[in-house]
Amino acid sequence: MTKRDYYEVLGVPKTATKDEIKKAYRRLAIQYHPDKNPGDKTAEEKFKEATEAYEVLSDDQKRQAYDQFGFAGVEGMGGAGPQDFSNVFRDFEDIFSGFGDFSSIFGSFFGEGFRTGQAGERTNRGSNLRYDIEIPFEKAVFGTQIEIAYSRDDTCKTCAGSGSRSSKGRVACSMCHGTGQVRRSSAFFAISQPCPVCHGEGMVVDDPCPDCGGRGITKKKQKIRVTIPAGVEDGKRVAVPGQGNVGPYGGPPGDLYVYIHVQPHHLFERHDNDLYCAASIDFVTAALGGEITVPTLDDRKITVQIPAGTQSGKLLRVRGEGVPMAGGRRGDLYLKVYVKVPTRLSRRGRELLEQLKSVEGENLQPDLLKLSELPQ
Ligand SMILES: [Zn+2]
Ligand SMILES: [Zn+2]
Repeated sequence: MTKRDYYEVLGVPKTATKDEIKKAYRRLAIQYHPDKNPGDKTAEEKFKEATEAYEVLSDDQKRQAYDQFGFAGVEGMGGAGPQDFSNVFRDFEDIFSGFGDFSSIFGSFFGEGFRTGQAGERTNRGSNLRYDIEIPFEKAVFGTQIEIAYSRDDTCKTCAGSGSRSSKGRVACSMCHGTGQVRRSSAFFAISQPCPVCHGEGMVVDDPCPDCGGRGITKKKQKIRVTIPAGVEDGKRVAVPGQGNVGPYGGPPGDLYVYIHVQPHHLFERHDNDLYCAASIDFVTAALGGEITVPTLDDRKITVQIPAGTQSGKLLRVRGEGVPMAGGRRGDLYLKVYVKVPTRLSRRGRELLEQLKSVEGENLQPDLLKLSELPQ
């Protein structure tokens, strides 16, 4: 079977940015995910194909090798095979944010051990939880504390997480003799499969706890306070270690991830650590210079100098009125000024302007330039 070009697979040009590649992959992954297309082989192939393409194109080194040498360039790097999803794994929370629980999306694909990281390591650590929250623009800039209420799997109090009614705890599964695997053989071959009784765990609870049904976990509602650091960006997450689900049989808890969605501000826009807004100035101030008063995000009023001869579209910088950064510094505030021309004039004003035109006539000649030469 011939392989399709990775860019073609994702439907992006060779010049696509990382962001465009990620968006394209996200779209395809959602469309073709096996869970959404049960039994559809074509969809599954497309899903694998897109994942492989993303695995390579989202990694600068692999992408460069692929651009230069094609498939041969990434073969030895573990990129062209569907086995290595390390990169996808790193990005998965990002890619699927807003798409529900990731483990249900990819669980079937990556299998067990995916969540815990180390290959081959089996732990009964609990799963991570995701909580989405929307916060006002100012709170994201200056930081805040929020209280969130949610429910998680907690250790069962009755059996202290053992899952067992008595103090016996878990015992070796009699079906598989504690190996977790059963062998099925026919005349031609023998295969090992996870034991259907203990689900591959090798251990079972003989006398299940009545309150948790033998898993050692119960649902618990809780409220916690989460500190949102100043400067947090839209779509980022804040990790709260140990506040996810506890694992079965007293396994350690996973983490809680709080995903931040920032509401837009009615005036300011944010680009990295700088804030932007626009302000009009009158045409006399633009010509003569002067000052205007503008509000800051934390509701103070500041004075901004307008230099004489300021053109429409000029960007004025106010240092230190942007987003707080590490080390106590702050980004800047940018004001994009535009010159407002009055649409109604008094008789006297009109006379003065006509006088001005007759005096300054030479200086007021129109210029002709290419569109692209217009000052921005
Ligand atoms: Zn219990
Ligand atoms: Zn078993």
